[in-house]
Amino acid sequence: MEANVLINLAYVVAATLFVFGIKMLGSADTARRGNLVSGLGMLFAVVVTLVDRSILSYTWILAGLVLGSAIGLVAARLVKMTAMPELVALFNGFGGLASLLVAWAEFEKIRGMGWAAYELAMESNAIFSGFVIYLAMFIGGVTFTGSLFAYGKLSGKLSGTAIVFKGQKAFNLLLCVAILGIGIVFTWGSDLELTYKLFLTGMGLSLLFGVMGVMPIGGGDMPVVISLLNSLSGMAASAAGFVISNNVLIVAGCLVGASGLILTVIMCKAMNRSLGNVLFSGFGASSSSGGAEDDREPKAISVEDAFYVLEAASSVVFIPGYGMAVAQAQHVVKELAELLEENGTEANFAIHPVAGRMPGHMNVLLAEADVEYEKLLEMDTVNPMMPTVDVAIVIGANDVVNPAATDDESSPIYGMPIIEAHQAKTVFVLKRGQGKGFSGLVNKLFVMENTRMIYGDAKSTISSLVNELKSSS
Ligand code: NDP
Repeated sequence: MEANVLINLAYVVAATLFVFGIKMLGSADTARRGNLVSGLGMLFAVVVTLVDRSILSYTWILAGLVLGSAIGLVAARLVKMTAMPELVALFNGFGGLASLLVAWAEFEKIRGMGWAAYELAMESNAIFSGFVIYLAMFIGGVTFTGSLFAYGKLSGKLSGTAIVFKGQKAFNLLLCVAILGIGIVFTWGSDLELTYKLFLTGMGLSLLFGVMGVMPIGGGDMPVVISLLNSLSGMAASAAGFVISNNVLIVAGCLVGASGLILTVIMCKAMNRSLGNVLFSGFGASSSSGGAEDDREPKAISVEDAFYVLEAASSVVFIPGYGMAVAQAQHVVKELAELLEENGTEANFAIHPVAGRMPGHMNVLLAEADVEYEKLLEMDTVNPMMPTVDVAIVIGANDVVNPAATDDESSPIYGMPIIEAHQAKTVFVLKRGQGKGFSGLVNKLFVMENTRMIYGDAKSTISSLVNELKSSS
């Protein structure tokens, strides 16, 4: 059997491992194994590629491997769970940059040997090669700067507010047309010096487009952007796979691209927005709190009084949000749920798809605390139950329980599905003070008749409730 056939067979095995790995990520029980299976697939693909390709320097590859592993190890140890989206944004960005560099390097090769010799050596078609090189550079460039900008917004280094200006859409459209036009001339051009200039100009414009694309997106829409950039980084990798004729890179890139796109669509649905609306509406550009003003004051309750209400409750639903992640309260929350159950109370958890700062953030935290998966209820299951729930305990959640989404047409988040905590008989909101949620909107839930605020760090509030319950039993 020819070496080429063997290598491609090995790539099919690697791709199959990726697909099975991703499938296994769909359930909490098999997720860890899924990660391992996909990782093994990647290791296999890397080893085969290292054997197959005409490697110029193993020393450089080894140095890159050591450096990359060291950075990954430090990041995994030091980066807090709440800062994961920023890290993911950076990863996406560097994925995009890598694809851009691969495309650039391949074009430099062409500059060195000329199109005709390249066609002959690579058994490729010059137009197809030019097209994929430009495509990998374009998507990679947009992903790189777009992700860096998103990183700045998410980490608070740049303002999270959407930046809009007059004529922005027209400017972006013009940019798109210019990138496309240059791409067409580049793909069909044969003069190497001219195509080189076109390549560099196209690259500059693509890098600018990444920033301009993310600029008008702000507030609560950032998760969708991160997911979309993740998908773009996959597409860029896939295009880079075509550039260097590597089948496993094409497949892996497509998998990332497709899964990122599916997640993007799911998140848009969770926010009841179209992708077009997320990308172009400039949601969150106004500094106003949005929605109707309400001059009622929130009513606070002490931990002791809250304990008496909880002790008498027959059903409780915990609604975790970003604040639970900040407080790292998941373990004490689980302890409280267990104590309530021992006391005869039914305790469940309501999970909003965009609660926290990354998709599945709450699921990950609660799984870490060993909360049974069956106790995590999705919005569609929990909302119809809400009017019969005695106490809804909102733990550091804000935007995902904002009733303005259901009843205030003037609110920017009107129409976004929320966990309807306000429908419960009593609502306890655990937060430190008057801080707003990620979208910066006022939350009417806090001043409703059935709501009581328990101010303080969520972990210490829950710990106090746990102590009260323990000492009463
Ligand atoms: P929010 O960001 O709306 O609200 C978090 C709340 O937690 C704040 O009101 C804050 O109030 C409180 N809080 C912070 N620290 C603590 C603490 N130590 N103890 C108690 N409370 C605390 O969170 P949600 O989860 O409700 O909503 C998520 C938002 O983030 C959505 O707008 C979503 O679109 C966005 N987003 C989601 C991503 C995802 O993929 N899940 C990614 C990026 C953004 P106070 O300061 O007063 O304590």
